[in-house]
Amino acid sequence: MSNMQLDTLRRIVQKINASNDLSESLDIMVKQVSEAMDVDVCSIYLLDERNQCYLLMASKGLNVESVGHVSLQFGEGLVGLVGQREEIVNLERASEHEQYAYFPETGEEIYNSFMGVPVMYRRKVMGVLVVQNKERQDFSEAAESFLVTLCAQLSGVIAHAHAVSSADLFRKVTNISNYKIFQGAAGSGGIALGRAIVLYPPSDISAVPEREAEDISEQLGLLDQAVIAVREDIKRLDEKMKDSLMSDERALFSIFLRMLDDYALPQEIKEEIRTGHWAQGAVRIVLERHIAHFAQMEDDYLRERVSDLKDLGRRILASLQEADASHKELSSDSILIGDEISTAALVELPLDKIAAIVTTEGAANSHMVIVARALGIPTVVGVTELPINTLDDVEMIVDAYQGKVTINPPRRLRQRYKEIQKEEEQIAKDLKQYETKDAITPDGIAMQLLVNTGLMIDVVRGVQRGAKGVGLYRSEIPFMLRDRFPGEEEQRVIYRQQLSHFAGKPVTMRTLDIGADKELPYFSIKEANSALGWRGLRFTLDHPEIFSSQIRAMLKANIGLNNLHILLPMVTSISEVEEVLYLLERDCKAIQEEEQVNITKPKLGIMVEVPSVLFQIREFSGLVDFFSVGSNDLTQYLLAVDRNNPHVSGVYSHFHPAVLRALNRLVQDCHQYNKPISICGEMAGDPLSAILLMAMGFNTLSMSSSNILRVRKAICHIPMQDAQALLAHVLTLDNPLMIKSWVENYFKTNGLSDMVITNRLITS
Ligand code: PEP
Ligand code: MG
Repeated sequence: MSNMQLDTLRRIVQKINASNDLSESLDIMVKQVSEAMDVDVCSIYLLDERNQCYLLMASKGLNVESVGHVSLQFGEGLVGLVGQREEIVNLERASEHEQYAYFPETGEEIYNSFMGVPVMYRRKVMGVLVVQNKERQDFSEAAESFLVTLCAQLSGVIAHAHAVSSADLFRKVTNISNYKIFQGAAGSGGIALGRAIVLYPPSDISAVPEREAEDISEQLGLLDQAVIAVREDIKRLDEKMKDSLMSDERALFSIFLRMLDDYALPQEIKEEIRTGHWAQGAVRIVLERHIAHFAQMEDDYLRERVSDLKDLGRRILASLQEADASHKELSSDSILIGDEISTAALVELPLDKIAAIVTTEGAANSHMVIVARALGIPTVVGVTELPINTLDDVEMIVDAYQGKVTINPPRRLRQRYKEIQKEEEQIAKDLKQYETKDAITPDGIAMQLLVNTGLMIDVVRGVQRGAKGVGLYRSEIPFMLRDRFPGEEEQRVIYRQQLSHFAGKPVTMRTLDIGADKELPYFSIKEANSALGWRGLRFTLDHPEIFSSQIRAMLKANIGLNNLHILLPMVTSISEVEEVLYLLERDCKAIQEEEQVNITKPKLGIMVEVPSVLFQIREFSGLVDFFSVGSNDLTQYLLAVDRNNPHVSGVYSHFHPAVLRALNRLVQDCHQYNKPISICGEMAGDPLSAILLMAMGFNTLSMSSSNILRVRKAICHIPMQDAQALLAHVLTLDNPLMIKSWVENYFKTNGLSDMVITNRLITS
């Protein structure tokens, strides 16, 4: 595609994005495309699933009266053909095609050439874009690729519009009042009924949710204060830059000040407040209106002013947010919703008040979800179409088993879910008897179940549920709870708590594993390819001062208890472990001298997360005492699928044959070199996969405290012989879904159907 075409495309997409509703987007689109391509007609037909047809939604060139009226059944006409084949149809003489259907009200008989391009979103046809010309001539390849690219961009806009309007696609986006279901991915299982609270990033105009002003005069007052503060700031900036910038270079400041005059932006914002919006929402509405206007300007200079406007908007917003003491209080049925909620942001909240979490981004094995699972908070992620900022205080049901979020649920559905909640409580009660049982199969094989920890609550629940130690302590979690790297003594106290609660039992502490989706609020690592980047041991080896203070704190905490094991994350190569061995040796000696006590060198292990480790077990066995599989990352890297990306969450599965076969071989290799191997990824806490792991020869499984009882129950019911037969069979299968349902079927037919989530589905 030429640069000029790319530029045109960019402009069209910008204008579409700046429009207010779908109808305006489509009108802009057909007008812009017909001008850019110099075609006689450009129309867009959208799929109306309820009425099983494609409806003409916008057109430049066809009779205006036909818009909103002409529709084609699935498979009818050339539009139907494009939708059915899901591919471009490019014809020089459309009327000669056998599937040509003619609608007199459109006036299209005079147009000979026809090109239809499907608008696809996530493998589904959303509509068809058509261009037509009087002249008999094929459309060029360049025209094809131009439209394909444009349609790919448009599809998201249409999908979003579908999501926010259940009945009327032309409806403007306002707070949703209809019953509607959104699909995402199941994160941490469970069911919750409650009201949404939007968690949005500060100073982000587009993220501000719709909210009604509780007290209009209070909101007007807040705005006045914010405007005064921003004016002062800008004047200060202007003054500061006097010596370094020419007066015309400082012109922006006076533009800002003029915009902040009482009769300019503030007046418009106040009008919105008076109609009932809260101040932050009013700022968003006014700013977005202006931004849309500027974005449509042909003049490049004026278009560029959009960024200045955004800057000014952010300043007003930041000032309002700083003064916002009325930050929404959480009540016990609060459902936290946001585009992205980080672990750090989550753990800062009153956790006992969060009934559920829903995010538009992220996937089932992201770090936040792992923490939510440990806390037993039902979580649904990757609900890409959820119109976050229209949902504040809206009633919803979160079905985190199926990844479904229902907005404004009808009474009957609410009742049904309440019944399921009761059943859940019953299941949890039944599971209580497994708190004191040993994990031994009916044919006498004992398994060791450990707990994954991070927060203190994991320790408490782990002990209560009979964990035989800690298989993974995620040391980054306490780091996330602070506003700077914790010092050595601060860390020692935290680690000591973990070690002493499990005195006499192993506690495996993983060294700091940050990077990728594990961000520290005070140390941000921004990388294009963060999952393959500076994370885990790669980071700490580059910062020996941080690494050493952590190791020293662990060693000191271990004095007198001697139950510490150290685990290294994201190991790729032998040389990394050699470096650690050197540092460990040095730190042990130093502490021995400082503290005048004998230091027992802790056992050292590595996580098997990077596939390179699978092929170097012999070499690593010479250096370390044990291995622990991080199946979350190992699955990510084996399948080349981002564990946080909802678009590819369907590809991510620990039942994938490649994952199962790799693990099966890994256990055998570790046994050959006499090295203990355990597993601490989420796979160990899923009873279905836990049984397969047991059959492979893993005798230690470490999991979230919320899964211990279910896994123990499965072990107590399934003989090793059965598990091995099950494994032998699934290893011959080639499809992750088939493997999973095969195991599910075994559970269902052997009295364990309460562990099969699909048994608790409501199809609404
Ligand atoms: C894993 O990758 O499986 C693991 C246990 O580590 P984390 O989920 O913390 O990356
Ligand atoms: Mg990992």
